[in-house]
Amino acid sequence: MTARIIDGKVIAAELRGRVADEVARVRRDHQLTPGLAVVLVGNDPASEVYVRSKHTQTQAAGMASFEHKLPADVSEGDLLALIARLNHDPRVHGILVQLPLPKTLHTETIINAIDPAKDVDGLHPNNAGRLAGGFAALSPCTPLGCIILTKSVHASIEGMNAIVIGRSNLVGRPLVQLLLNENATVTIAHSRSRDLAKLCAQADLVYAAVGRPEMVRGDWLKPGATVIDVGINRIPVPGAKPKLVGDVAFQEALDVAGAITPVPGGVGQMTVACLLVNTLRAACAIHGLPAPAV
Ligand code: NDP
Repeated sequence: MTARIIDGKVIAAELRGRVADEVARVRRDHQLTPGLAVVLVGNDPASEVYVRSKHTQTQAAGMASFEHKLPADVSEGDLLALIARLNHDPRVHGILVQLPLPKTLHTETIINAIDPAKDVDGLHPNNAGRLAGGFAALSPCTPLGCIILTKSVHASIEGMNAIVIGRSNLVGRPLVQLLLNENATVTIAHSRSRDLAKLCAQADLVYAAVGRPEMVRGDWLKPGATVIDVGINRIPVPGAKPKLVGDVAFQEALDVAGAITPVPGGVGQMTVACLLVNTLRAACAIHGLPAPAV
């Protein structure tokens, strides 16, 4: 058996298209242009690439994009003052502070200062708590993308056994909550879990969000399982650009899984597309409009 490849590039492009259609509709019917503000502190090259991509895709979807670049030595007070301005700016419906922040800044203080209604990264405790309570919330983008990719294979995942390997606030924990909302039966694994291979063997859906290259082996998987690989690991190649690999041994998994996301070209493609979804949702919610049909 060779697994079906879940093409994140195609699925993300379709999603961006649906967002652009809905943006055009709310502009036409409600004179509302959703706006996203991205704050970048310092000049980490990977973060600069992400921010550029967010800017381009936001504009391509017909939304307003506001970029704020601050020096690495910006004071916490100045950054908080910018966030307060963005919280009050009616053109801005989504605020994203690119992480990681320089070590001199306290990430939790910064995230907590964002208006939860504009917290399109879904990291504010209000949104994390609402999601955990099963209430409507802005959810982190990467887990949202994982659910959309899963649904490209299974229209319903109700009653399926899922395992989420990793329990970070950014990926693992919110993904568990989203899976519960879809009525999956969820196992949460982490660095202290025993016998991961045995836990994986029972899973119809495997989500690897660990950050360890090719940790999940093909012979851990239940035949036919759907595998969503969140991991992005850069492996040095002498004399060439680093190679990107996921947390799953892709070639091995191809022979066992029913469907699998590649790295690159899988989950990574969905994250920015889901940021656009969250910005559109936030704009509609702030203006008392029904949730958009994306
Ligand atoms: P974190 O480092 O915050 O969390 C990693 C999680 O993996 C932790 O919960 C940790 O457990 C667990 N873990 C570590 N080692 C093991 C092990 N041997 N067995 C089982 N679990 C283990 O990472 P993130 O959640 O932020 O990211 C995970 C991966 O996803 C990274 O490769 C990252 O680059 C990628 N990523 C990709 C994105 C995308 O858009 N595609 C977006 C965000 C992240 P414990 O809690 O016990 O320490």
